[in-house]
Amino acid sequence: MKKRFVSLFVWVAAVAAAWQPRPAVAALKVVTTTEDLASLAREVGGDKVTVDALARGYQDPHYVEPKPSFILKLHAADLLILVGRELEIGWLPPLVQQSRNAKIQPGASGYLDASITVKILEVPTGQITRAMGDVHPQGNPHYWLDPGNGRRIARTIQQKLTEISPNDGAYFAGRYADFDKRLSEAEKRWEATMTQFRGTKVVTYHRSWPNFAERFALEVIGYVEPKPGIPPTPSHILDLTQEMRRQQVKVILVEPYFDLRTPESIARQTGAKVLVLAPSVGGTKEATDYITLFDYNLDQLVTAIRQSGAK
Ligand SMILES: [Zn+2]
Repeated sequence: MKKRFVSLFVWVAAVAAAWQPRPAVAALKVVTTTEDLASLAREVGGDKVTVDALARGYQDPHYVEPKPSFILKLHAADLLILVGRELEIGWLPPLVQQSRNAKIQPGASGYLDASITVKILEVPTGQITRAMGDVHPQGNPHYWLDPGNGRRIARTIQQKLTEISPNDGAYFAGRYADFDKRLSEAEKRWEATMTQFRGTKVVTYHRSWPNFAERFALEVIGYVEPKPGIPPTPSHILDLTQEMRRQQVKVILVEPYFDLRTPESIARQTGAKVLVLAPSVGGTKEATDYITLFDYNLDQLVTAIRQSGAK
């Protein structure tokens, strides 16, 4: 009897869910290259958008293996939002072309480069050669790891959504204002946590963290990669360990998609701690959205700094 009651309840619930009224106007289909941009698009777009990210947050965003599903998603998209600054140059352009979707081709109104209003660091001056490694001529593309840039991206998305769907302009403005307020509150909390750790010296695997380091006053003294995108070499690691000992660096930040053997060997030689942080939303299960991404990383970082005795 009890079982039958439960199954009847499940059936009624399923029918009720299926019978929910459909929105009068279909939601805008937004596709983003990364989960960070997806989180920001959801913040601003609310239930007026459906958002799909192509790359997962634990993948290296420079090298994403294209899947057939990517082309289907891009084909149906009203808006494509990308990080830009050549981050996705190795995988995105052919997919956009193959999507046969005129709305999201470069220059069309449904193609949004999220970097247009953000603060970009490490813009190279002078000529770039292959010997410099995978240097981005338009500056460091890992800019979303400064919450100030997250706010600028959200604003850019708000303006673009309003341009595409002007009738929902007030809704998007309200959503942006709410996100801005919550982000500002979070920033106060993060700054209060980090103030006693200002100037902490760290080494990072890839150059993913310049905006993060600038915002939270960390000093990056070196990289496990000898040059961006180039795997570590014995002579570089020897120089790096000597420099870390000299400057008493106790924390090595590593992105989740790199092999830990070299960082762990450096850590053994220098007494430092290897800390895998999430460079993106979805990089760890705790980083479920743009704000919890920073909550998680700063919490982990503070714990590591305390344990290592760096401060
Ligand atoms: Zn990079």
